[in-house]
Amino acid sequence: MTDVGTRRRILPCWNPMLRVICRPVAATAGGLEDLVRDMHVLMGSQRGIGLAAPQVGDDRRVVLVRRPDDPPGRTVVMLNPELLECSDEIVPFEEGCLSFPGIYRFVLRPRRVRVRYHDLSGEPQELEVGGILARVVQHEIDHLDGILFIDHLGFWGRRDVLWRMALRRLGLVFRGGTM
Ligand code: ZN
Repeated sequence: MTDVGTRRRILPCWNPMLRVICRPVAATAGGLEDLVRDMHVLMGSQRGIGLAAPQVGDDRRVVLVRRPDDPPGRTVVMLNPELLECSDEIVPFEEGCLSFPGIYRFVLRPRRVRVRYHDLSGEPQELEVGGILARVVQHEIDHLDGILFIDHLGFWGRRDVLWRMALRRLGLVFRGGTM
């Protein structure tokens, strides 16, 4: 096969797939390798640091995260990730999402989390993470439950983002510095 492209694409925030509660996945599931490869390609092409399967139209509990120190092209694949513990300390952190390109908002979440997941060989793994990685893990696990980062904003914050995305959908894109 010479085609290294993918037929999948990153879905924009208004796609109903992003509100689906995803189902557990086994490491032996059919097509999983394909899915992970496509997610890897799409995340890399957008310079993302995390991506969840529903963002590319698959309803299985798969996320990819990139550790800040990882070389480009390397990612951690988490199957069925779940938070075991969250720190009491809640901190603001500016988040973006590949389904909301160019939009960044401060979101409050626990500073550290402990996450359990299965790797691609089906082995259970546990990680305790802080900093940006804790943020990415929480953001991506939310995606598996149909939750978007704007759901953590107040009413007006959420409205503002949805308004901007609606304009974009109509083709009235504001050209900002981040695009
Ligand atoms: Zn996201």
